[in-house]
Amino acid sequence: MKNVPDFFGCSVFDDRVMKAKLPSKVYLSLRRTIEEGEKLDISVANAVADAMKDWAAAKGATHYTHWFQPLTGVTAEKHDGFISPSPDGGVIMEFSGKELIKGEPDASSFPSGGLRATFEARGYTAWDPTSYAFIKGKTLYIPTAFCSYGGEALDKKTPLLRSMEALNKQALRILRLFGNDDVKYVRTAVGPEQEYFLITREMYEQRKDLRFTGRTLFGAKPPKGQEMDDHYFGVIKPRVAAYMEDLNKELWKLGVLAKTEHNEVAPAQHELAPIYTTTNIATDHNQLTMEMMQKVAAKHGLVCLLHEKPFAGVNGSGKHNNWSMATDKGINLLSPGETPYENAQFLLFLCAVIQAVDDYQDLLRISVATAGNDHRLGANEAPPAVVSIFLGDELNGVLEAIETGTPYAGAEKTQMKLGVNVLPKFNRDTTDRNRTSPFAFTGNKFEFRMLGSSNSIACANIMLNSAVAECLKLYADRLEKAGDFETALHETLRETIRDHKRIIFNGNGYDDAWLKEAVEKRGLLNYRTTPDCIPHLLDEKNVRMLTSHKVFSEAELRSRCEILLDNYCKTVLIEANTMIDMARREIAPAVSGYAAELAHTAAAKKAVDSSLSCGYETELLKKLAMLEDQIMIRSEELQEAVLEVQDIGDIAEESRRIRDTVLGKMGQLRVACDSAETMTAKKYWPFPTYEDLLFSV
Ligand code: ADP
Ligand code: MG
Repeated sequence: MKNVPDFFGCSVFDDRVMKAKLPSKVYLSLRRTIEEGEKLDISVANAVADAMKDWAAAKGATHYTHWFQPLTGVTAEKHDGFISPSPDGGVIMEFSGKELIKGEPDASSFPSGGLRATFEARGYTAWDPTSYAFIKGKTLYIPTAFCSYGGEALDKKTPLLRSMEALNKQALRILRLFGNDDVKYVRTAVGPEQEYFLITREMYEQRKDLRFTGRTLFGAKPPKGQEMDDHYFGVIKPRVAAYMEDLNKELWKLGVLAKTEHNEVAPAQHELAPIYTTTNIATDHNQLTMEMMQKVAAKHGLVCLLHEKPFAGVNGSGKHNNWSMATDKGINLLSPGETPYENAQFLLFLCAVIQAVDDYQDLLRISVATAGNDHRLGANEAPPAVVSIFLGDELNGVLEAIETGTPYAGAEKTQMKLGVNVLPKFNRDTTDRNRTSPFAFTGNKFEFRMLGSSNSIACANIMLNSAVAECLKLYADRLEKAGDFETALHETLRETIRDHKRIIFNGNGYDDAWLKEAVEKRGLLNYRTTPDCIPHLLDEKNVRMLTSHKVFSEAELRSRCEILLDNYCKTVLIEANTMIDMARREIAPAVSGYAAELAHTAAAKKAVDSSLSCGYETELLKKLAMLEDQIMIRSEELQEAVLEVQDIGDIAEESRRIRDTVLGKMGQLRVACDSAETMTAKKYWPFPTYEDLLFSV
């Protein structure tokens, strides 16, 4: 194998390639577009397209595609050949600036939540030059935004870019107030830690629930799960190591900075973390990572499960969104500075995050809400559904000192007067001990830990960027007008801490006492399920904030609300239907088959000698017969519950009904089937069990 630096990014049309392949005028113009959002001239686009095509063709690419992120949560692509007929009957390879900049896929079958009537099916894709094009297989991939003809965003990238722009604008205002006039832009950066499970393809194929829903809907607890904590950071098995090696190679070729890998808490669970990068690129890269995880698994005879809760009884999978803001010079705005003045600036950005998380708890909760993630949040393996911030004792002490105007009792007692003292450096060790917090400060970044493993990270970052932009705006509006900047700054910090400290919690987030305190004493929101939270996307304050920063239009928000709820309903109903099918056509016949064997055995024993005991067969038969009845009855009940929610019409009401009726019936059916599993001879069981699945690789 070649050295990593020799092949890293070899499939990416990155800055190195651009510099080498583009005329310098074109290159500089493109850089201005990338860095400052300057409008791209068509002649520049033509030159870029031509260079891209030549570069891609030399690497064996025959096609190109606009690559976008519709509201399905996965990516979409439609390939077109570079070929164009030439007069002599042959073909030439062509790719124009127009084709690079804009595409017109038929968008009629993507969810639009009412944004686009099917008769105006066309949507269009628009090149995002801030994320590099790359080659995968024989195709050149061009990252794009996806909009309707009316200009409404039909994707996740467009609002993400808008939210980054909103934050940039407001952060620059604040930086100017501190005299940082040379900063050109502020970008947020993200490093998403991705959890996943690996099982063998052979086992996966045998389970309809895994194939249809990505998670197991049945399965008795195996004798051994994660009790021994022997998997976490354990030795990586050879087959998994080979997979990881291959995965890294594929990701590196695509310029993804895959860095850290280890075993996670549950058996068969692993994690991959890249080095952080600009949010927009991190989002594209995370989508690529999830796709590659599955593709590479197939090559190794494995399946990568990205579902939030593939197995009951062991930990599910999440995604930690490590987030920070930095200037074009690479100055991290969440890092305490060297001088008192820099510290004051740091504290203001910190306060903006604190207020943003408090004011928009609901948006953060909504941004991670899916049927899958409902199984994790609040289940003592992932953060609770209540959003709170962990700051650590040191920083907490600083904030308290500012609020109360008392000396800071840190390492050395100092009066916290802004603009005078130097803040202590917060080192990771003192800030990162709490693993139960949904939103933790970890030294120079915040780690938002509520995301589900299959979530696109776009949603969480759209909300986070927008909410922080809003708070920075409030501060800038106030401070720009202030006569005495330092006094106004001090007051702003003090008031923010006073008004929003309720969101700060440094204790154990898994504790029931905390939930009680959070809700009853502090008035924090506790939206336990997806149907609880999603409708609040349309709360007036949320619509006002998101539209005022031009991140979403009201119509776009309505469409998201509709799609998210619809997705919840469909997900649960597919699970319910899969359960009914498996219970009736696989589990019940298996139990009945084993019961028949027991009956025959008992009868045969009696025929040989009527005094022989058949206690074992008879007792077990009785239990199994009872369970068979239960399986039948509970499947019927689940079927009825599914039918009852069919024609409700109102999607929010339907989602609540599904949560309140269907989910419960699914649970009951599962209990009956799982108990039957523990009593049925292994050779009768129709599909691999938890024991098989969790220890298969
Ligand atoms: P953990 O203990 O949570 O695993 P790591 O040090 O491994 O912490 O970092 C987790 C992720 O945080 C990595 O993806 C890393 O690149 C990212 N990260 C580090 N610094 C920053 C930063 N300033 N902004 C955003 N992400 C960051
Ligand atoms: Mg982490």
